[in-house]
Amino acid sequence: MLLPGATLGVLGGGQLGRMFCVAARTMGYRIVVLDPDPRSPAGRIADQHIQADYTDPAALKTMADSCDAITTEFENVPADSLRYLASFRPVHPSADNVEIAQNRVREKNFAQSAGLQAAPFHPINSTDDLPVAAETVGFPGILKTSTLGYDGKGQAVVENLQQLQQAYEQMQGVACVLEKKLPLKQEISVLLARNEDGEIDCYPPAENEHRNGILHQSIVPARVSPAIIKQAQQKAIDLAHQMDYTGVLAVEFFITEDKQLVFNEMAPRPHNSGHYTKDAAVTSQFEQQVRVMCGLKPGDCRLISPVVMINLLGDLWHPDWSQLFNEPNIKLHLYGKDEARPGRKMGHYNVLSEKLDDAIQTAAKVFQKLSK
Ligand code: ADP
Ligand code: MG
Repeated sequence: MLLPGATLGVLGGGQLGRMFCVAARTMGYRIVVLDPDPRSPAGRIADQHIQADYTDPAALKTMADSCDAITTEFENVPADSLRYLASFRPVHPSADNVEIAQNRVREKNFAQSAGLQAAPFHPINSTDDLPVAAETVGFPGILKTSTLGYDGKGQAVVENLQQLQQAYEQMQGVACVLEKKLPLKQEISVLLARNEDGEIDCYPPAENEHRNGILHQSIVPARVSPAIIKQAQQKAIDLAHQMDYTGVLAVEFFITEDKQLVFNEMAPRPHNSGHYTKDAAVTSQFEQQVRVMCGLKPGDCRLISPVVMINLLGDLWHPDWSQLFNEPNIKLHLYGKDEARPGRKMGHYNVLSEKLDDAIQTAAKVFQKLSK
């Protein structure tokens, strides 16, 4: 068990790493961040910022030497770097688990083996695979790169074989997967924390709305039936146990028009749709990350207020913050990024109200004012 005073390392210095650092420091831990960017959001608030590439052996060794345990803020850190670190220090989540989440084909296969239902899919490794993929999956479909996709990047909706061929050409030969495009009623995500002893706690699902492939808002509790909530939580828990997962895990689900719960993807880390936990849950997802990597019990995932989280992207910079601060029940979180670019996540705000509908309305009203 690692207690306050210990030093925790995180690979990646983006906003997730930064919020992890804040939680860890609040709890009395020292923090080391590895990130090549000299101005990374987490690096600038860490006790130590190792400014180097994620594959730099000397930097990794320095990190191992200075940390008691290590975690990651993103799934695209090279698994071999995690393996190397794990030869010196506890690393959570494990390289094996991160590797599953890095690849859409691997994660769908794994989820199915754990009893979750995925949309029909077929891997594509060359143009030869296109006709059989079209045949097995059908149209409309979504062609996705198997790795490195985020915020809807590396995806194309295709209506027929010709469009599929064109879209695949544009992916420039990288491994892809064709997925059936499902008629969606809603999207939800389930977040949980599990420690090495298999102790687990699960948050209530968030209902997520995307705009242009990027999360716009999360509404909690999700406006879905109790049966769906229970089923989604159980499936996420099954998945975590099956992976023997240690860490914070996010699982995204579709709810189809005919009310089927379908696995979409997972993230082996805190998730954008879990930012509401910073203000509206007993334990934030970042505190959970600290707790479980330190071998502590997961904290209470209970929701203490209905909440709506709205993402603030670089498209609307600089907003008139006074509009936001006029509302006494809004909590602003900014990530300390110098440069605002369209689609770049700059921060978020959480609206807490006794009634969920009030939170939804206030969130939308303020977003509109900020967008002017
Ligand atoms: P990312 O890694 O960018 O989050 P996702 O696979 O989660 O990629 O896709 C982004 C969004 O695109 C989803 O949240 C959903 O709105 C839509 N989408 C993705 N796959 C499907 C699908 N099979 N059917 C319908 N909509 C989908
Ligand atoms: Mg997603």
